[in-house]
Amino acid sequence: MSRAMAACGVSAGWDRRRLLRAGALSVAGAASGGLRWGRHAAQGAVADGAGRLVDGDPASGYVDAHVHVWTPDTHRYPLAAGFRRDEMQPASFTPEELFEHARPCGVTRVVLIQMSFYGFDNSYMLDVIRTYPGIFAGVAVIDDSAAHPEVEMQRLAEHGVRGFRIYPRNLPVDRWLDGEGMAAMWRCGAERGLAMCHLVNPDALPAIDRMCERFPDTPVVIDHFARIGVDGPIRDTDVEALLRLARHPRTYVKVSAFYALGRKKAPYTDLIPMIRRLVGGFGPQRLMWATDCPYQVQAGHTYADSLALVRDHLDFLSADEREWLLRRTATQVYFAEGA
Ligand SMILES: [Zn+2]
Repeated sequence: MSRAMAACGVSAGWDRRRLLRAGALSVAGAASGGLRWGRHAAQGAVADGAGRLVDGDPASGYVDAHVHVWTPDTHRYPLAAGFRRDEMQPASFTPEELFEHARPCGVTRVVLIQMSFYGFDNSYMLDVIRTYPGIFAGVAVIDDSAAHPEVEMQRLAEHGVRGFRIYPRNLPVDRWLDGEGMAAMWRCGAERGLAMCHLVNPDALPAIDRMCERFPDTPVVIDHFARIGVDGPIRDTDVEALLRLARHPRTYVKVSAFYALGRKKAPYTDLIPMIRRLVGGFGPQRLMWATDCPYQVQAGHTYADSLALVRDHLDFLSADEREWLLRRTATQVYFAEGA
């Protein structure tokens, strides 16, 4: 598996190693460096400058629900302990570089996922959200073992963060959600409409199922089909484990990271039977398309390849249902104001 593919977190082996390091970090790394942030910009604003994503209303186009950005400026935005500059592959993926791929495809809004390089310091992501009002929402990473993680959640929510990325780290997959910090996060998520966004393999799904029973009002997003097919075959038992979450009304699945799953080759049509089953189980209103850039634009894969699978190849969807996958579901989960 290539380095570029691995760095997205789709590779379980790479992930475990990195996340162990991240878990060892102090919450002190989450300091925002004294920057003052305004409230999340109102919908309808359009970013200025050559790199802007849209000419008109940002709500008019597609929403990419999963992208990572980073900058080579490690002086202003230092890497977390344990990460090296040469591990940033590509060396740079700024919002402007993203726009070059996304804009020709009609994507006008994007959900940013905090990159592992930065540990618990979400400041680069927050800076990007602030720089391009109305274009981005954020999914942050915080330390759930710190006292009162809900305080940090609410602070970040003031700056455009709408979800929090969680993963088993070095904990057993059957108990990784049992801690007090996780309970506090899920409770706050329910109260504030902030999503718990899961980077997991299928073996972690039963623990999520139990948390959904405890916290039925917490929005829950499963990234990249729970990485079903990352090692090649799309196993029925894995798809069934994912489908079991559908009985919880606030669970959502990202239809994403096609470059890394199944045959890992455009047009990715081998993933269609799984997507069809998920549409049957969750309904289009709880599925959202995403690229997982920059990894979707590496090694011969393209942004357009990813969009085309959902826009052009899912014949069983009506036009209205396709709109949910490409725009409306992600808008409701990540861009709803006053959540
Ligand atoms: Zn990713």
